[in-house]
Amino acid sequence: MATPFSEILKKYRPAFEKVKVLDATLREGEQTPGVSFTIDQKLEIAKKLDELGVHMIEAGHPAVAPDVYEAVRRISWMKKEGEIRAEIIAHSRAVKSDIDKAAETEPDRIAIFYGVSDIHLKAKHRKTREEALSVIGEMVEYAKSYGVKVRFTAEDASRADLAYLEEVVRTARDAGADRVSLADTVGVLTPWTAQRFFEHMTKAVPNVEYDIHAHNDLGMALASAFGAVMGGATAVHVTVNGLGERVGIVPLQLFAVAVKVHFDLEIIKLSGLMEITRMVERYSGIEVPYNMPVVGDYAFLHKAGVHVAGILADPRTYEAFPPELIGRSRDYVIDKYTGKKAVKAKLEKLGIRVDDDTLMKILEEIKKSKLKFLTDDTLISIAERVSGRALRPRATENIEAVVWIKVDSNAFTSSVARKLSVVDGVKEVAEVTGDYDLLVRVEAPDHKVLNAILDSIRGTKGIVGTHTQIVLKKMEK
Ligand SMILES: [Zn+2]
Repeated sequence: MATPFSEILKKYRPAFEKVKVLDATLREGEQTPGVSFTIDQKLEIAKKLDELGVHMIEAGHPAVAPDVYEAVRRISWMKKEGEIRAEIIAHSRAVKSDIDKAAETEPDRIAIFYGVSDIHLKAKHRKTREEALSVIGEMVEYAKSYGVKVRFTAEDASRADLAYLEEVVRTARDAGADRVSLADTVGVLTPWTAQRFFEHMTKAVPNVEYDIHAHNDLGMALASAFGAVMGGATAVHVTVNGLGERVGIVPLQLFAVAVKVHFDLEIIKLSGLMEITRMVERYSGIEVPYNMPVVGDYAFLHKAGVHVAGILADPRTYEAFPPELIGRSRDYVIDKYTGKKAVKAKLEKLGIRVDDDTLMKILEEIKKSKLKFLTDDTLISIAERVSGRALRPRATENIEAVVWIKVDSNAFTSSVARKLSVVDGVKEVAEVTGDYDLLVRVEAPDHKVLNAILDSIRGTKGIVGTHTQIVLKKMEK
């Protein structure tokens, strides 16, 4: 995104090119108040994250509970079976029994955390700085003896004594940790201090990779993560929808889109972001706020007449990036602020064309209405009343749809095709090349049946993605 000062960002592009995304939805995300995923939901989320191209998945803290243990074990298996490519991480306190449990789940990496600020040392661990150093060194070495990769997380690193933190990182590195996560546990970093912090640490203690784990208590997490990468961090911890303890950490979707907008880099597959947003909303029971950037309902919803007129002339007037980037579309609020152009655009979006005269009458009706927010349905009703025409699409009958299917690279396309050919409602199955592997033609008497057919297609083993297009047929009068 070009601004007069965006040149200064250019030199940081290589840092963002190689930055790794660590998703902690299954670990940190489950620490959100009220959130508890089932094992199956965790496997599904892990699979989806891997499809998006997330580099590391923090799958859980096995010592916490038997079902967490089981989920981490199964996700590690999926990795071994080649169903997942991302590195799988198990979380652990700096305690032998925790590390044993983590190792039993056979992850690629064990991540050991320990509070290193004086506040944490005193209140939580009741250890002197020296005692803590020996615990950290010993436990990293112990985890390492299992033959796994080890990350050390310096909890509350942003409030720790800097010289002591250097000693901590040196100790962890020398004991065998190849990554160290510097946690901004209460979210007190800012983009500038985060950058300076990581510049300092990468210089003071080199030969180890640094992660940034930034909490969002002051709404700074995403910005601090940017600063940290500019300062030398090579991995950013995120969660889907920004879930996590209290108000959470960096939202995956926002980090990915911000990197795309500022550096034109697609570090993970942006087209899959809305799907995982909805999946995690469903499984966590926490809906993203309407006004959440990127994924919120209002992210591309324009209201004031002046704004809508601008958008219709050139969407860049009021959009930092096009909604299509993440598979969304823009929309317009229809209420008393609405102008003629917005109503026209909105009606066209609904497939309704009216003459200028009718349009003006519809607008008058809208201005008179006391409603705060006109739904599409209300707008159509007004249009019908004013024009005296039936504009509502009839409930469609005899629907025909084409479903594009992506087959798991480990499954045989022809065997998936065979399974699909016997699904009720499937009329034709063809193998294709390109972005998708199979094309299926479906016929259904109505929407309900169509949904059932699509569900059984999606539930067929070996299918990793579908895209459905309804074939529009002439509507009945
Ligand atoms: Zn955290």
